[in-house]
Amino acid sequence: MYKMVRGEMPIFLKDNWRRWTKQYLNSNSIFQWYQFENRPVNQHLREPLLKMTDKHCSFCDGYPMGRMTRNTIEHFRPKAKSKYPKLAYCWTNLFIACDVCQEKNSNFDKLLLKPDALDYEFLKYFIFDSFSGEIKPNPRASKNNQDRAEKTIEIYKLNDNNLPEFRLEELNNNEDDFLSGNKDLTTLSYRFMYI
Ligand SMILES: [Zn+2]
Repeated sequence: MYKMVRGEMPIFLKDNWRRWTKQYLNSNSIFQWYQFENRPVNQHLREPLLKMTDKHCSFCDGYPMGRMTRNTIEHFRPKAKSKYPKLAYCWTNLFIACDVCQEKNSNFDKLLLKPDALDYEFLKYFIFDSFSGEIKPNPRASKNNQDRAEKTIEIYKLNDNNLPEFRLEELNNNEDDFLSGNKDLTTLSYRFMYI
């Protein structure tokens, strides 16, 4: 999980999110995105959310988004009526995610780390093991921060689905960037490996 800075809430959301939230809370149906200018709201959200991550997945940092996945919108706190329905259209609850990270679904834990939190830094919680390709809790972090890292790895399955192998492959392909501390990581997958 690579740090991101959240941009301003888009105007169309600012103008409508309260109305859409009320509509959802008052409806009997399960969540579905409402329409804005003849397109579902999630389609309008993709661009501003992708901009925040330089087109990487917010959680696994896979890049480029869109080629292998449908780059879906992930609700950090689940939007189901039994969970956090009031946050269904809340800007700070929305992230761009690849299909695999999206599988987290309604899994949520208060320990889960948020990549746009002001005090979030990869190394504050995690280390990258360049031998195994795995992300691990930083052994120098506080107990609580290590627990949060552990939970985040577990819920977003950050060491499953062959991700460690993909990372090592990436590292191999970009060995020069890794050794020289390439300043422009924009187009590299798993940017946390280079910091
Ligand atoms: Zn992902």
